[in-house]
Amino acid sequence: MSRYLGPKCRLCRREGVKLYLKGTRCDSPKCAMVKRPHPPGEHPWARKKQSEYGSQLREKQKAKRKFGIYDLPFRRLFSDAERIKGNTGENLLQLLERRLDNVVLLAGLALSRYGARQTVVHGHIFLNGRRVRTPSIRLKLGDVLTIAPREKSQAMTQNVIDTTKSRMVPSWIEVDHQTMEAKIVALPKRDQVTIDIQEQLIVEFCSK
Ligand code: SF4
Repeated sequence: MSRYLGPKCRLCRREGVKLYLKGTRCDSPKCAMVKRPHPPGEHPWARKKQSEYGSQLREKQKAKRKFGIYDLPFRRLFSDAERIKGNTGENLLQLLERRLDNVVLLAGLALSRYGARQTVVHGHIFLNGRRVRTPSIRLKLGDVLTIAPREKSQAMTQNVIDTTKSRMVPSWIEVDHQTMEAKIVALPKRDQVTIDIQEQLIVEFCSK
């Protein structure tokens, strides 16, 4: 009988992707996606083949859960991605990656996605020298994130960085652990987007 894992890890296993919802545990060998990288349930491989609609919906849900956003903001992002020149699916992934809470997580300034959102909402992050509290802000080339100068924010982030400094940071973000600064030095390309997803299926789903 399989041990109960809790709703967060079950979500990862159902979507087949690491959603980084449990802080340090997600980087450890204890992660459920390392120990049991298959869907939850008694007979995970005995599932019916998914319909075309089912696979498109699955990919959209995967992206929404990975970035922790609801349907309406996701639809808005999709409309923005359609308006940008180039491949809509790739544009969508790039817009998702450039969200402030995602960059805070990728830069190692938070342990989990939920933690990244809390860090922003509680005013611990400055964007280009000004305090921001909106996790969905879309970062641009050259934007610089710093930690609020108050003692509590600095101490809290230093503790987080001590844990996350061994994490790989994508090359489009430059992080200085000494000054606790992160800078956007390029816009993310498709092969730098860490999510294992078929964005074309999302485009087909959202274009209906
Ligand atoms: Fe659980 Fe985190 Fe691993 Fe997901 S990534 S299965 S939340 S430990």
